[in-house]
Formats: sequence, C-alpha cells, structure tokens
Amino acid sequence: MRFEELDIETLKHIGTEETNAQARALAQGRRVQNLYRLPNRLLGTIRDEETFQVEVKIEDDQLSYECSCPQVEGGEVCSHVLALLWAWVEEPGRFLNQTELKDHLKKYSKKELVDIILNLSERVPNVRGILKEEDQGLEDILESIDRVMEETSGDSPALADAENKLRQAQVRADRLAQSGYLAEARSIYFYLLDNILSLEERLQKFFSPELKKELFEEYCQFIHEDRQLEKELVQQEIEQLESRSPTFRSDLDLAEIKRELNLSG
Ligand SMILES: [Zn+2]
Repeated sequence: MRFEELDIETLKHIGTEETNAQARALAQGRRVQNLYRLPNRLLGTIRDEETFQVEVKIEDDQLSYECSCPQVEGGEVCSHVLALLWAWVEEPGRFLNQTELKDHLKKYSKKELVDIILNLSERVPNVRGILKEEDQGLEDILESIDRVMEETSGDSPALADAENKLRQAQVRADRLAQSGYLAEARSIYFYLLDNILSLEERLQKFFSPELKKELFEEYCQFIHEDRQLEKELVQQEIEQLESRSPTFRSDLDLAEIKRELNLSG
C-alpha cells in the first residue's frame, strides 16, 4: 500500500462511522496542522481539546499509526489518526513533502542555509534544544550514556526507555563518523556496548539483541574503515568486552574481529 492509494473508502474501513465523522470535522476545521509527508510516513499535529502528535506509517505494505492521546485502546484507531488521513486524502497539497524540501534545500547556498537555521532557532523554542544537543562533543556524549546507565540502575529499570536514549547517542556517533571522526564514533560505540553488557550483567536482563548486534556491526565497520586505527586501543577495548559475561556477549563475534586485526590473545 502507498499513501497515494488511500481514499475515502479505505478510511471508512479503518475507522467507525462516528470516528470518521469526528476526524473529518477536525480536518475540515483546520485542526490538523504541521503536516509533513516523508517517503513512508505522515506526521501532523491535531488541535482537539488538547494538542496531539500523530504519525502514520506504511511499512511492508502495512499501515500503522501512533497518537499521543489516551484514546487508543483495544487497537481501535482514534479520531486524530483518522483526521490526519482525512487531511491527506482531501488536501495532500497541505503537506510539506520531505523529498521536495530536500531538492529545494540543495539549491540554497551554505549562507542561506545557516540563516534559515538561525532564524528557526529564534522562532521555534524546540529547535534550540536540538541544536544544543548537536553541539555536543565526545565527552558530552559519553556523559549522556553514563546518565542513562545511572537512571536505568534503579529498582524497576525500563530497558526500552534506556534503549531509546542510547539510540540518541548512537545517532550522534554516526554523525561524527560522517564528518570523518571515525575513532570518536568507534569509542562511543565501544562505550555503548561495554555499558550495555555491564548493565545486563548487573540486572540479569537482556537489551534487545538487535541493538547489540547493530552496535557491534557498526563498531567493526568503524574499525575496518579507519586508516589511522589505533590498534592498541582497539585491543584494549576488545579485551574489555571479552571480560564481560559470556551469557550477554555471546552474540558478539569478538574472536573474528581479533583474527581480522591480527590481535594477540
Ligand atoms: Zn488520538
């Protein structure tokens, strides 16, 4: 399924008559705002009695949705999700299209882009928080990982929450890598892996295997790509990972990476 294939008939199948009527009223009353179209997602803000953030996704031909309202119970779609879809079906032109935006932005000079971002940071308070995070160096990122680990050590740790926060450190590491700071990116990945293994050991609980697998693959990738690789440092990192409990590090093929690097031990 593609967003272009959605029509009023589909919407009537997704929600009840009543929800659809509410949704349509929201859409037509322009209560659906900040509309954004990404290749496989639609985003919007719904101003009902309160303001809700809505996201609709198409993945593997499946439509899925999220809304920040408490209405979503028993898997039934809420009027806000439907309102976003009504806005899409009836007025797709109101959506900011990411693909077009990207093409558009590419035509701007660097100075123009800088002006746009500076302007945004004055006008949109949230942008300041995001830019402040972007401004972080290696130390800040490692500290943010420490903080997540501390928060997660309590009595009833929420590993899913922790995982989301750690993913933010991962995103920042990737950005460092894209700017050519491979050693820094690698050390963040190492730090993430080592802290995750240590926390798992302590709590006797597992993070998702995908997270560890992904982190380890990227970690190895940074090792392969780095032409100025500090082998001794990497050796220490791998020894450190090896010192963690086999129960939790069994998904990581440390022997393989050692062979590749001709590391001793
Ligand atoms: Zn909702």
